[in-house]
Amino acid sequence: MCPVNPRPRRFWVVVSLAVACGGSEPAEEVETVELQSPEETDSAELAATEEEEAPSRQELFTRSRPMMGTVFIIKVDAEPAVAEPAIDDAFDEIARLEDVLSEWRSDSEISRINQNAGQSPVAVGEDVYRVVKAGVDVSRWSRGAFDLSWAALRGLYDFRPGRQRVPDRAEVRPRLRHIDYRKIRLDEEARTVFLEDEGMAIGTGAIGKGYALDRAGRILREAGIESYMLFGGGQVQVHGMRGDRPWRVGIQHPRNETTYFAFFESDSGSISTSGDYERVFVDSRGKRWHHILDPRTGLPVERTMSVTLMAPDGLYADALSTAAFVLGPRRALEMFERIDYRAEAVMVDDQCRMHATPGTDERLQMRVELDRRNTLPDCE
Ligand code: ADP
Ligand code: MG
Repeated sequence: MCPVNPRPRRFWVVVSLAVACGGSEPAEEVETVELQSPEETDSAELAATEEEEAPSRQELFTRSRPMMGTVFIIKVDAEPAVAEPAIDDAFDEIARLEDVLSEWRSDSEISRINQNAGQSPVAVGEDVYRVVKAGVDVSRWSRGAFDLSWAALRGLYDFRPGRQRVPDRAEVRPRLRHIDYRKIRLDEEARTVFLEDEGMAIGTGAIGKGYALDRAGRILREAGIESYMLFGGGQVQVHGMRGDRPWRVGIQHPRNETTYFAFFESDSGSISTSGDYERVFVDSRGKRWHHILDPRTGLPVERTMSVTLMAPDGLYADALSTAAFVLGPRRALEMFERIDYRAEAVMVDDQCRMHATPGTDERLQMRVELDRRNTLPDCE
């Protein structure tokens, strides 16, 4: 992709993923959403509210609720009498999904699938079936770079400050052979999921939040709300127009958390980000230990800094951004060509160079200039 001159804009929304805590306990994850004006791009401190920057635009009705180890935020362009009950229903739906999808609750459907690994198929509800099926699709599309059964590695790492832990090779090696999405058996008619190998486990951390936003969006639309923006753990979903133009979702600079280098514009889409700057710690040798693991090695992926991807639905957007992250830009571009699913991705490799799927330019607005090798500025 060619460098594009930054174009000043009056206003846009930036989604910023706060690094800090996070870890194997979901309650420790933190996410912030900041509204910034273009003049203030270099400083999160100067963040302005949307309304102040754009007094002519309809004020958005906004609510947030902590769930799924992150904070979900819903912004709608609607009267409070319509917005409030609809947002409550949307949050309740996400909470319901957390109950069935959680890897942390021993009575969730996902946990029951894991508890019965190597023993028997488990009957599941429609939501879990859909998520597992999509997870297996993306596992296959990415040839196991994304692998829903990555969770055999769960518990080996701890990213929380003060509790940081990295496993040694001897701990990792025996777990790797239990990662194999081809051993996830789905029976559509009986709606069951069976893990063939006893040491296997599946985990929905890279896919569940995207699905939750799909369901929440549907509830808002059913309530007659056409213009909304949803956030949750690296996922964003937009629908309708923000006044007279589409919504804008900023793409965070992977090495400069207070700035972003581009934004996607959309009136109907899911935007998902996977980055090596969340749930991470840097060791004394400068190595980054973060939460997206290569299923072949059990180690954090080093070939990518971030992937931001736009797709028609959150379920696939979420999983595909993780898949592209693990593959790295070159192999991810091959995957996007190969699969029968439309997604637009902006990827930053380990040299801080940007790569994008063909045709992305139309909906992507750059905020910085890239050098001749497509390197982002301020990458130290
Ligand atoms: P986030 O959870 O911050 O939105 P991702 O969607 O990229 O980020 O998902 C990362 C999470 O996915 C990890 O915390 C872990 O739960 C899970 N995971 C890690 N590595 C893989 C992998 N190779 N395939 C599938 N899921 C993974
Ligand atoms: Mg994901």
